[in-house]
Amino acid sequence: MGDVAYIGNVAKLAVELVNQDEPSELRAAFFEQHRIAEPDAGTLAELLPLLRDAVATTADGGPVEPVNRLLEKYPPLMYVSTHGGETHLHFAPDGEEPASWLGRSCAAALAHVICGDPHVTVGRCQADGCERFYVDDSRNHSRRFCSNTCASRTTVAAYRARRKAARA
Ligand SMILES: [Zn+2]
Ligand SMILES: [Zn+2]
Repeated sequence: MGDVAYIGNVAKLAVELVNQDEPSELRAAFFEQHRIAEPDAGTLAELLPLLRDAVATTADGGPVEPVNRLLEKYPPLMYVSTHGGETHLHFAPDGEEPASWLGRSCAAALAHVICGDPHVTVGRCQADGCERFYVDDSRNHSRRFCSNTCASRTTVAAYRARRKAARA
């Protein structure tokens, strides 16, 4: 994967952790390719508050301090990797302790996104009552929901509201 996809994919990994989703194939592939052990609950508990604040402020377009706090606690170590045959950026050493690898990688990716990476944005799901975030790497940045479930739930609610208004 190229560096642009890499930043988007690490941002997805950050959002997946903050949303506390079931581990995805993307996450499994990342951990395997970079020889990262599955983080235990204690490891994640240390990282998650900082990561959540950094994801939230990236979705809101600032302030930048939460991203800088994550960068300070987990400073990225940037180098170029060619594993898998694709030249791409790495922000943490392969085989590193999971919290540190995740912290450095996510800090670097969120720093790129909050500074206006042209290919990737992070947003808050627009569905009523949903607290989840999403990564949008679509061409026209038209995404508004964390999932198809939230998108169709919102469409149905809007349809019902229109019908109710029409009957009134
Ligand atoms: Zn890699
Ligand atoms: Zn949602």
